[in-house]
Amino acid sequence: MGKSISCKDAGKTCGWSATAESEDELLKITLEHVKEHHKDLTINSELSKNIKSIMKNTK
Ligand SMILES: [Zn+2]
Repeated sequence: MGKSISCKDAGKTCGWSATAESEDELLKITLEHVKEHHKDLTINSELSKNIKSIMKNTK
């Protein structure tokens, strides 16, 4: 079982989504995307917590 995330679930008008094998892996990928495309967001532990909270399980 893996994890998936999409920016739409965070209320962003952004078509980006990703899947990964683990929560930590997906968090890393997501933070890379945030750094590139959502420069208004500050990367900190609060953001990481929010990102994890909108992750979904994949089959
Ligand atoms: Zn995005």
